[in-house]
Amino acid sequence: MATPGRALPQPTPETQHFWDGAKAEKLLLQRCNDCSKVYFPPRPFCPVCASRNVSVTQASGKAKLFSYVIHHRPVPGFTPPYAIAVVELDEGPRMMTNIVGCPQTPEALVLDMPVEVVFEAQTDAITLPFFRPSSPLAKG
Ligand SMILES: [Zn+2]
Repeated sequence: MATPGRALPQPTPETQHFWDGAKAEKLLLQRCNDCSKVYFPPRPFCPVCASRNVSVTQASGKAKLFSYVIHHRPVPGFTPPYAIAVVELDEGPRMMTNIVGCPQTPEALVLDMPVEVVFEAQTDAITLPFFRPSSPLAKG
């Protein structure tokens, strides 16, 4: 569901592949072909060895909750309380996101809990990746 009033990112040449992927419900990262580092956010060179020999790779969408803060003040496009979270993807990179599909409480948001990506279209151009608690019944 779109969230009216939410400030949305503006794709740039460096991030366009990520937004195209999100629109297709694929979480795309980049991988250095020289040192194998997988990284995010998008940039045209490796953050470790500065190589420009990089390629796009699709992430599994699986992650764990690394940290979060719960905001209680209203911000356009958000209904408080809401958590702003950092998840650590199985591939290694960390990503700032929102956790959806569960109460925005410390009891429900347990550090290190497994989460999985879910995509929510905001506009024709922008689909945002969020994360929800992994279903124990979900198949790998
Ligand atoms: Zn590298």
